[in-house]
Amino acid sequence: MSKVNTVLGTIPAEELGFVAIHEHIGYGMPGSELDTKWWKTPEQRYEETVPKLRQFHEYGGGTFVDATGICNGRDVDYYKSLSAKTGVHIVACTGFVGGDTALPHFARATVDYLSRQFIHEITVGIGGTGAKAGIIKVGVSRGGRMTELDKRIYRAAARAAAATGVPILTHLAIDPEPAVAIFNEEGLPLDRVLFGHVDDGVNAPITPDTWIVQQGGRLGFDTFGYETELTDPPFWARPRKDRMDHFLRFVQGGQVDRVLASADANCSPLGWPGVKGHTVNYIFEVLIPDLRNNGVDEETITRIFVDNPADFLSIRN
Ligand SMILES: [Zn+2]
Repeated sequence: MSKVNTVLGTIPAEELGFVAIHEHIGYGMPGSELDTKWWKTPEQRYEETVPKLRQFHEYGGGTFVDATGICNGRDVDYYKSLSAKTGVHIVACTGFVGGDTALPHFARATVDYLSRQFIHEITVGIGGTGAKAGIIKVGVSRGGRMTELDKRIYRAAARAAAATGVPILTHLAIDPEPAVAIFNEEGLPLDRVLFGHVDDGVNAPITPDTWIVQQGGRLGFDTFGYETELTDPPFWARPRKDRMDHFLRFVQGGQVDRVLASADANCSPLGWPGVKGHTVNYIFEVLIPDLRNNGVDEETITRIFVDNPADFLSIRN
């Protein structure tokens, strides 16, 4: 049977239910934990996060994939307690959001060291928590081109994914040619890779989405809700209709099996104020009604949020 690592244990993929594939319990830049202005007390973090996860559960949400990398505020004991209290499965990741958020200890490490780190977190556990990572995060550093360090992390991730059967999720799908070359060289089938943020306002115009699908990759339309219609939109916002039209081109164009969708929201941002008015529950409150209004049927919605994530997240032996 297909299995998936969650922070409370390895479970059958059938038990994941409705999945938010790219979210954050709390995301902050490395070092934000040292900032006395922004670092939050445990009380504040629980207070901001628990109601959102409870609401997610009430709406029918089953699994929350936390795409926060090793140096960006990942806190697995905290995730375990959130999952136990709210009943939402939480999948934690190993890996890094990008080379530019890896602290010097990791930034100087070899491919071999990094891949052993990832494999340990997937097969033994993260730190002393006993919780195994269910996905590997990699990403493109600021600047729009993959750096030497980004490539080292991608190669280590490809080796760990091939060795353990856990999939890879990328931050950004721009400049994907070097990434695809690395995955091919390491013998990792590209359906094990979700190329994320293909839909955000800054990167959508420069992301070769069709090419990625032709190579066998999956597309993450995972910044739903960061729209120019917000009162104070972030720089990566995009008009709501533009994003929906972009998504529908794949959903209604025979590529529904290649797409996954999410909101990339922060339950409780760390070291920055976050984006007001945007939560994981955008998926239920706005996105799904929008899909229905655009003629997307229930079976297709189930494929996007239940079947595709179960297939993608399943540990492939
Ligand atoms: Zn994210």
